[in-house]
Amino acid sequence: MAAGDDECTASVGEITISPVKVQRLPHLTHYLPNLKTFPNPLDRNQFYRPSDGFYISPCDVILRQITYDLSGIFPLPPSHLAYHRAGPRKQIFFDPSMIRVAIVTCGGLCPGLNTVIRELVVGLWELYGVRQIYGIIAGYRGFYSFEPMALNPKLVEDWHKRGGSVLETSRGGFDLEKIVNSIKDHEFDQVYVIGGDGTMRGAVTIFDEICRQKLNVSIAGIPKTVDNDISIIDRSFGFQTAVEMAQQAISAAHVEAESAVNGIGLVKLMGRSTGHIALHATLSSRDVDCCLIPENEFYLEGKGGLFEFLEQRLKQNGHAVLVVAEGAGQDMIPRSDAQKKETDESGNPVFLDIGRWLKSELKSWWDRDHPGELVTIKYIDPMYMVRAVPANATDNLYCTLLAHSAIHGVMAGYTGFVSGPINGNYAYIPIAEVANAKNPVNTMDHKWAWVRSVNNQPDFIKR
Ligand code: ATP
Ligand code: MG
Repeated sequence: MAAGDDECTASVGEITISPVKVQRLPHLTHYLPNLKTFPNPLDRNQFYRPSDGFYISPCDVILRQITYDLSGIFPLPPSHLAYHRAGPRKQIFFDPSMIRVAIVTCGGLCPGLNTVIRELVVGLWELYGVRQIYGIIAGYRGFYSFEPMALNPKLVEDWHKRGGSVLETSRGGFDLEKIVNSIKDHEFDQVYVIGGDGTMRGAVTIFDEICRQKLNVSIAGIPKTVDNDISIIDRSFGFQTAVEMAQQAISAAHVEAESAVNGIGLVKLMGRSTGHIALHATLSSRDVDCCLIPENEFYLEGKGGLFEFLEQRLKQNGHAVLVVAEGAGQDMIPRSDAQKKETDESGNPVFLDIGRWLKSELKSWWDRDHPGELVTIKYIDPMYMVRAVPANATDNLYCTLLAHSAIHGVMAGYTGFVSGPINGNYAYIPIAEVANAKNPVNTMDHKWAWVRSVNNQPDFIKR
């Protein structure tokens, strides 16, 4: 594999490793040996001493799959997928003194958004000497609705200590033509897009249009999903902070349940299509009697159902704690025709409140089967509290590494990519792959089995 060529495959013994191609500027050309590039300014940075191995070469890749069954029972894949490793390149595509950069956040809030913005600004400014850095206000619509906000390290100094997004965020407002025109009018050379699955699909569309118009503008995505529902990368930023906050809500529910006769604590946690937060908070808190997630259907009445299980737990312990992910049991809640059609500004279906519905079903069941007996159901919905907190230490560090990885890639001319950790190493992945990759909880693997062994909850399989 020749240095500078991002497309080659390499064979090591019988193994063929094929790096997933990430587009590079200038558009629609391969890496050109005579392309005008610039030496990386880190060479001149007083704090760095680039030595052998400091710069990442295009030959440096990370394998997607790192566990293999060598028993021979399952055939090994003929070719092993790999991604280009993130990090500074010796030669860069952009002249840092000339470029203009835009940063935008879209979708819902997530702990760490401000850290990513801060580190993009500080990294671009301090590592590469970029001086024209702008924040796009209030999501995609901000490209054509508001004047960009000039950003510098002094301004963003303490942003990592704040929850939310100082740049503000929004749903809807995706107008491709206006967005691309704004990028051209403001002469942005680099656009960093921070957001969830919808935002990443929007970024793919912008990237495709930028390619079609052959503009030398790099589009980089930094995937944000507090639910951890994006695949390929190890985990998304904000997730660990969310699990920590979720645990606090579970503790409160436990205290409430313990302090009442037949006390039931019910906590709704984030997770529209995946139950990772509910699962991790359940495993780490140990106070949860039953964890309900979208990937595992459940039912209320009859043998093996939730009511029968709660009946036993209340008899044994006098209290019980239930955790439910917001996307669980959505099919069980009766919906009016209007509710069936309801969508948010971005076109996502509106979820009904599973926690409120479950609380009312639990109350009806108890009053029906235990007339005159006391019950206390305390419903805690910490969703907005969880989303709005600043990132914890682990997520803060993670956001920093994500932002810096993205900067190094963009400066080297990569475009249409997302930076993220794969098996512990940071890599560049085409945005389109990440935008479409789901990450459901695998209810067949050991983690879900572990939940069931910790709390002995029903499997909800009707027999
Ligand atoms: P969250 O994790 O909060 O759901 P998200 O990025 O998925 O984050 P959305 O509200 O779905 O949040 O989308 C954010 C932005 O992306 C909106 O401006 C929306 O219009 C735009 N968007 C969503 N889906 C697409 C798509 N398929 N094509 C273009 N733009 C999209
Ligand atoms: Mg989304």
